[in-house]
Amino acid sequence: MLDAVVVGAGPNGLTAAVELARRGFSVAVFEARDTVGGGARTEELTLPGFRHDPCSAAHPLGISSPAFRALPLERYGLEWLHPELPMAHPFTDGTAAVLSRSVGETAASLGPRDAGAYRRLVAPFLTRWDTLVQDFMSLPRTALPRDPVTLARFGLAGLPPSTLLSRRFQDERARTLFAGLVGHVMAPLSGFATGAIGLVFALAAHARGWPVARGGSQSISDALAAHLADLGGAIHTDYEVKRLDDLPPARAYVFDTSPTALARIAGFGRAFEGYRYGPGVFKIDYALDGPVPWTAEAARSAGTVQIGADSAEIGAALHDASRGGRAPRRPFMITVQPGVVDPGRAPAGKQVFWAYAHVPNGWTGDLTDAMERQLERFAPGFRDLVLARATAGPPELAARNANYVGGDIGTGAFTGLQTVLRPRLSLSPYTTPHPAVFLCSSATPPGPGVHGMSGHNAAKAVWRRLRTP
Ligand SMILES: Cc1cc2nc3c(=O)[nH]c(=O)nc-3n(C[C@H](O)[C@H](O)[C@H](O)COP(=O)(O)OP(=O)(O)OC[C@H]3O[C@@H](n4cnc5c(N)ncnc54)[C@H](O)[C@@H]3O)c2cc1C
Repeated sequence: MLDAVVVGAGPNGLTAAVELARRGFSVAVFEARDTVGGGARTEELTLPGFRHDPCSAAHPLGISSPAFRALPLERYGLEWLHPELPMAHPFTDGTAAVLSRSVGETAASLGPRDAGAYRRLVAPFLTRWDTLVQDFMSLPRTALPRDPVTLARFGLAGLPPSTLLSRRFQDERARTLFAGLVGHVMAPLSGFATGAIGLVFALAAHARGWPVARGGSQSISDALAAHLADLGGAIHTDYEVKRLDDLPPARAYVFDTSPTALARIAGFGRAFEGYRYGPGVFKIDYALDGPVPWTAEAARSAGTVQIGADSAEIGAALHDASRGGRAPRRPFMITVQPGVVDPGRAPAGKQVFWAYAHVPNGWTGDLTDAMERQLERFAPGFRDLVLARATAGPPELAARNANYVGGDIGTGAFTGLQTVLRPRLSLSPYTTPHPAVFLCSSATPPGPGVHGMSGHNAAKAVWRRLRTP
């Protein structure tokens, strides 16, 4: 009899397994794919020698994660690489707003009328970032937060819609940068708590950066898996779990899956019926003949580049994909160019380039042309550099990873109360109708991203249960 069986070897499943193994419990992980990683993997998707991240690429949440920071992942090969600039947001006039490690440089790029407002917005939280990140990534919680005053202040600033928070800014540069930050989760700008989303990404850049992992995101998953092996945990790949009977006897079962899949596998009927999935994404991985020819100088040294001409265009694109039910004509795009800091991802002189845009859940069209027209506005000549491209819309993403229901890479809509209370209204979101079955995927708080905190928090609920006589 094992102590715990984990289903799914994504960052949360692997973190949950490591946390349990570290505490002396026997653990085995069962993963449907032939390699570990889930949404943190690296593959030669286009041409030989081009190492693409089909899912996560930039890791502001990973490097700030209290769970990852407590693990010796560097010893297992994880190396965070910091681009000169975490993020740039180019405009059609050839300039760019930037999210730099330095608050001063960021504020200056927003223009004189908003520099002060930006400083005032981030300053109260920045010095307390490590405690704040621990507190909000552990929500909802039964224990008291470490710094309740800062957490409450953060809630006051962040719980209203980002459109309200953006009113602090007078000019379009700051509003656009901030709207783009909200677009990193798939919520309309007017949604509940979207201010907090933008703030988290901005603060993370100043506090710890937005690094990529040397060699690709797979090295995050490989480090977790190697650590787990050293702790005595076992991993079985190519093993899709369809029923609880497929698994060996264990005292606890921890699912790094969607709530819908868990309900099907564990026979929970309509337990998660009210859970909603959000928009999907259309992802393109490019092999390029050289660096992206951004018109804005700053974009050339940034790891991440957001594409959207202004906050109205970004708002319309996010609205189209979420509430509008149609593909945006001018998509808002998030792009990552790991080559600015990790040249080993591609043969000499070449580049891998990563881009996605939001589309409605389950959308089956092809967004390639609309995305490349957007790119040409900010990097004329981009198309001439394309050696090969691998595209994946919602159906392909869902086929690669069952957690991306309808192409929703957040495994659940980030809207309304579900933003903070997921997968259902409960102070104990990791438990399920069966006392031995737990959920640890990004469908649980704190939600999407490669940070392992859902796995960490779920493991806590598991080890408390296992220690109860
Ligand atoms: C295109 C894209 C871009 C992204 N960009 C970023 C980014 O830049 N930064 C960032 O931090 N995050 C990013 N993300 C999000 C991030 O990848 C996810 O939030 C994160 O991987 C969630 O981790 P998880 O462990 O909950 O689930 P996943 O990583 O999805 O892992 C779940 C695992 O469970 C396995 N599984 C599912 N069902 C079963 C079953 N029945 N039996 C066995 N195994 C099963 C799956 O195969 C998978 O390996 C991106 C995702 C995508 C797709």
